[in-house]
This record gives sequence, structure tokens and C-alpha cells, in this order.
Amino acid sequence: MTDIRMDWTREEIAALFDLPFTELLFQAATAHRTYHRPDEVQLCTLLSIKTGGCPEDCGYCSQSVHADSGVEATKLMDVRAVLQSAAQAKDAGSQRFCMGAAWRNPKDRDMPAIVEIVKGVRDMGLETCMTLGMLTPKQADMLAAAGLDYYNHNIDSSPEYYERVISTRNFEERLDTLDHVRKSGINVCSGGIIGMGETREDRVGFVHTLSTLEQHPESVPVNALVPVKGTILGDMLADTPMAKIDDIEFVRTVAVARITMPKSMVRLSAGRESISASTQALCFMAGANSIFTGDKLLTAPNAGDDSDAALFDRLGLKALEGEEPLRQSRDGAESTMETAE
Ligand code: SF4
Repeated sequence: MTDIRMDWTREEIAALFDLPFTELLFQAATAHRTYHRPDEVQLCTLLSIKTGGCPEDCGYCSQSVHADSGVEATKLMDVRAVLQSAAQAKDAGSQRFCMGAAWRNPKDRDMPAIVEIVKGVRDMGLETCMTLGMLTPKQADMLAAAGLDYYNHNIDSSPEYYERVISTRNFEERLDTLDHVRKSGINVCSGGIIGMGETREDRVGFVHTLSTLEQHPESVPVNALVPVKGTILGDMLADTPMAKIDDIEFVRTVAVARITMPKSMVRLSAGRESISASTQALCFMAGANSIFTGDKLLTAPNAGDDSDAALFDRLGLKALEGEEPLRQSRDGAESTMETAE
């Protein structure tokens, strides 16, 4: 049995990264099989419910007002339109519907519509996840009361590298929101981006931060940077050898996340369309067990349903179906979430 540990040291995590690749994959696959079926991958759909015009300056993001990426700002989508997209995602086989709004934080006046959206999507029997920026404890409680299953708030990178990527908020504020989410009883979704010019040591620090939280995030998205022209990082990394993360290093990061947080869902997120089928297969071997489907992720391109279906066919993988996610109760104990079906 692979233990759930929250006392990982940076040295231990660095040693995992340093393992011979074959040994690392073996350990990751062993951890994976302890808590998950290795032939099942959860399909998620991501919808941008409010695009662009974000005052934050995240160096990788095309939706920041500080980026010159041509992404136009929109208002929060109409509730009915969101529910229509969710229904289409469900029909296309998705089990989880993630919604993102390009805000520093939601305003209190936005909350009634957000609550209505959460309830409507849950009523369809889809697992719900939202990413709306920083939350107050009260807003987290409102989302919990609406039945939100997961809240996404990525730590992005190591505490040390974070300030090189974002200047409009700090790492501690990130952790504060994660704490409000945890205390509200919503499952935590938090991961980061690989290939932003960070070092191996930063990747160690990134995994260390997540795996030593009081409780591991139930969901850990691992993104590969999609360098978008007009964004700070996109322009900085364009035409440099760092513009694309080394595939093997990406798989190593997935594997180390799997070993250190064996029970969490490890999600291949943005950047997957630029990763070869063979590398994605290695990521599944290394314990990744969720992907985002469709042609688009918020504003970035994605692999697309047809190529995913073909890949699943070649690898003999199937979509995870209808398993009830574990929900954290307010005192931290796990309980099985009621389904809306
Ligand atoms: S990543 Fe989120 S918070 Fe940062 S600029 Fe983009 S939309 Fe805003």
C-alpha cells in the first residue's frame, strides 16, 4: 500500500526526480494502481464563462489586460448558455465540467449567477469545478452550499519562481484561497505549469508545496506552457530552446506528482496538443488519469475529441464513468458526495 504522506522533504522529491526513468515510472505506476484503475481516464470539458480583460499579470496568460494577445474581453455568460454547453459536454461523454472566469476575484454581485450555474450543472449529474480567482471565506461557503465539487486555484510554480511570473498577487494569497476552499468543504484542485523557464529545483518546490499541504489537493492539473504571442512569457520564450518543455522532464513531473500524491486525480491540461501520442502514453503510465477534451481550453488550443478517441483506442484506455468523487467534510474527514442524479 502506498502511504499518503504530507511530510515530504524537498530532498526526497528531488531524489524522485533523479531516479532512472524506468524506475521512476515503475514507482509511479505502482502508486497509481493502488488508488486508481490504470485503464480509466476521466474526461473533462473546460468552458470559459467570462473571457479576457483580467487585471492580473500572469505572464503565461492571454486573458490578462497586460498581454497583447488579441483576446477580447467578454461579460459573464448567460446562465442558460452555460447550461447548454454543459449539456453538450455531457452528451459528448464528459463526466466533469470545469468553468473558468478571467477575474482577480469574483465580485459579490456575480455570485447569484455563479451559484445558479453550479446548481444547474450539478443537476445534470456532471461533476463541477470552477476557477474564478481569489475567494473570500464567505464566497467559498456560498459555492460549497451551491454544491460545487471542486475549486481550481493553481499555485503555478515554486514559491521562489512564482514572483518571476506574476507580480499582481503573491504566493501566500494563493495559499489563502486554497485554505478558504478547503475549510468550506469543497474539494481542492491545484496544480501548475511546466516549461515557463523554471528550473528542476522549481519543479521540486512546486510538487513539494502541493504534497505538503495539510491535505493533498484532490485534483492536480499539470500544464505544459502554451507560449502565446503577446503574453510576457510567450514573447520571452519564443524561438528559444526553452520554448518547449522537454518531454521526458514533463513525464517525470507527472510521475513525481503521482508518487507524492497517490490518491489525487492528476490531470493533463493545457499544452497536451503539443505533446506527442507516445509522450501522452508515458504520462498515463506515470499516473495521469484525466484529460480535457474538445478543441479549445479557455483560449488555448486543445487536442480535440477525434484525436483523443483515436489515442484511447490505440492505448486501450476507457473513459472513467460515474464514480462518486470523495468530498471533504468541514472537519476534514472524507465522506462520499451525494450525486445529483
Ligand atoms: S491566469 Fe487567471 S488570474 Fe491570471 S491573468 Fe489569466 S485569467 Fe487573470
